[in-house]
Parts: sequence; C-alpha cells; structure tokens
Amino acid sequence: MFAIKRALKLNNREATLMAKHAGFRRVVFNMGLSLRVQMYGVLEFSDSKVINEVKKVLTNQVKKQPECAWMNQLSSRVYQNALIDLKKAFARYREGKAGHPKFASRRDGQSFTVDSSNGKVLLKAGNTIKIPTLGTFRLDEPLPQGLASQTFTISKEGNRWFVSFCVDAERLPVQQPKGSVGIDIGIKSFATLSTQQVFDAPKPLQQAKTKLATLQRKAHRQIKGSRNQRKTYNKICRLHARIACIRKDFLHKLTTYLAKTFKLIKVEDLNVKGLLANHKLAGAISDLGFYEFRRQLEYKCKMYGASLVLVDRWFPSSKICSNCTAKKDMPLQVRNYDCPACGLSIDRDLNASLNILNWEPSA
Ligand SMILES: [Zn+2]
Repeated sequence: MFAIKRALKLNNREATLMAKHAGFRRVVFNMGLSLRVQMYGVLEFSDSKVINEVKKVLTNQVKKQPECAWMNQLSSRVYQNALIDLKKAFARYREGKAGHPKFASRRDGQSFTVDSSNGKVLLKAGNTIKIPTLGTFRLDEPLPQGLASQTFTISKEGNRWFVSFCVDAERLPVQQPKGSVGIDIGIKSFATLSTQQVFDAPKPLQQAKTKLATLQRKAHRQIKGSRNQRKTYNKICRLHARIACIRKDFLHKLTTYLAKTFKLIKVEDLNVKGLLANHKLAGAISDLGFYEFRRQLEYKCKMYGASLVLVDRWFPSSKICSNCTAKKDMPLQVRNYDCPACGLSIDRDLNASLNILNWEPSA
C-alpha cells in the first residue's frame, strides 16, 4: 500500500468549489464536536451514538433549512467523512494517542475527504482524475495505469490544491529496460548518471533565482512597511511559489524517468553533517531539493518496482579512481579526475557516479 499525491490544476470556479467543500467539512466537524461535548456526562451516549445522531439531525433537519441550502449543492460524502474523522479523533483521544479533538479552524488548513459509496474506483491513466461525487479535474503530473482507490482527500497547501489517495497494489507493472545505475548529485549538474547522462537544473529556475535576488535587494532598500515594499514582498512571494513549481516539475520528470528505466538505482545518502557544514555546498543541495528528490525517488521506486540503494554517507565517491580504486584528495573546484596511478582522466561527477554504481554494502 502506498500513497499518491498530485497537485490539481484548477480554474477559479473549481478552486471555489473545493474551498466550499472544505468549509462544509469544517462546519460539520465542529457541529459534531460541539454536540459531543454537550452530551458528556450522559452515560448512554457513546461517541458512535452521538455521531450517528448528528448524522440524522444533519440529514433530516439542518440540510432542510433554507439557510443551509448550500450544503445540498455539495457532496454529501464530505459530511459523512467529516463525521468519520471526528469518530477517529475521539478514538485516538480515548486510547491516549492524541489530545482532545479541537475545533477545526480555517487557519489549520483546508482539507476534506470524499469516497465512492460503490467501493473502489479504477482511475484512468493520464492527466485528469475523476474524483467520486466531485467531478473530473486536471492534474500537474499524469497518473499511471492501473490505480484504484475508494477514498480521496483534497487539501490546500499554499495556493495550490492537492488530491491524495492510497492504492493497495504492491507495485505497478513496469518492466525497466536497463539494469543498474549510479547517480552523483552535485552542484554543477543536478544529477550525473554512470550511463554518462547528465541532468541540469532547468534554465527558468536560474532566471527566476536571479530575479529573486534582485527583488530581495530592492525590498531591502525600500522604506519598511511602505506600500511599495509590500508590493515587492508580494512579488517575492509569487516568485518563490514559481521556483518551487519549476523545481518540483523537474524533479518529478527526473525521478519518474529513473524509476521506470533502471531496475537498480544507487544514490548517495547525502544527509550528512559534514556536507551541511560546507555552507556553499549545503545551500546548493537543499536549494536544488535533494530531499524532495529522494522522497520522490523512494516512493516511485516502490511504485514501479525498482530497487533503491542508499550508499553509505561516508563513502568517498569523488576521491576514488573508478578504474583502479586508487585514492586521492579532490578539492571541490577540481572538475576532472586525473588518476596518477592508472592515468584515467574523467569528469569528476561521472567518476563519482561510477564509484557509486560499484559500491557494495560492507557485510
Ligand atoms: Zn586509477
């Protein structure tokens, strides 16, 4: 079982629809919570009983009030799931796993869940998703073939809406055409493969970053709290979102390609203090989204049945000669590996990727 999450590409009307459903979920959840709290002390009212009563009141009375007519235009699966959430929240509280359920507020983020009452639905492969009771929406990244799920959660992060759901298939049937690959993650190129393929961060990302630096300097010069400074900050905010978008798109394409192409993928576990202590390198790595890269690569390898091997973080991949295993120091600015022992002359990153490919865990 694994989770899939995709950004939705919504127009204004669709985004409003999602916001309304999130509001509906909040109203129902809070109504149920408040009734439950009022009925504390009356022993015969268990959580389930109260929540069932809430459901009845909502269906037979609240929704029939003229001021609640808006609820009837929305998916009834939203309130069914809101009450399931409430029941689960109380169960966690009773088991001591969580605090007492709190009232949902807009500030906690907007999200809601719908499900198909006829069991699992098979999703079509491609750039759209049909969400039960809500309709068909565009996605920023296509879905592969053969996914099925019953429950779908829609949530808002920043300015974007996402859909997430769990699929219980062990993996998707993909036959990777190639065997093993070693990947070196670097600053000059984002990823260098032992197959000699090189993936650079996209150009628009560089341009956006240059622009960001300019705007930040501008904001710094402007009068604090002035209207113009606020305008600049708004621009900076939008640019950050754009950068995140470009980066994610780049990483999605790259990780999908890797997981569908290679049976075995070896990549350095770069979560290393030594590396982060080097500020220049640390900046470049976090900036390019190494952690996001690894997160995507992990779940996509699971999804497509590729094996992922994380290479020991202390393995000196750039210092070893990939031909004769001699070792020498390699300062960051040296871009080529010239081996004094065997005479090999090779690009630094390619040499590292070959070492990563050849790495075996010590027994
Ligand atoms: Zn050598």
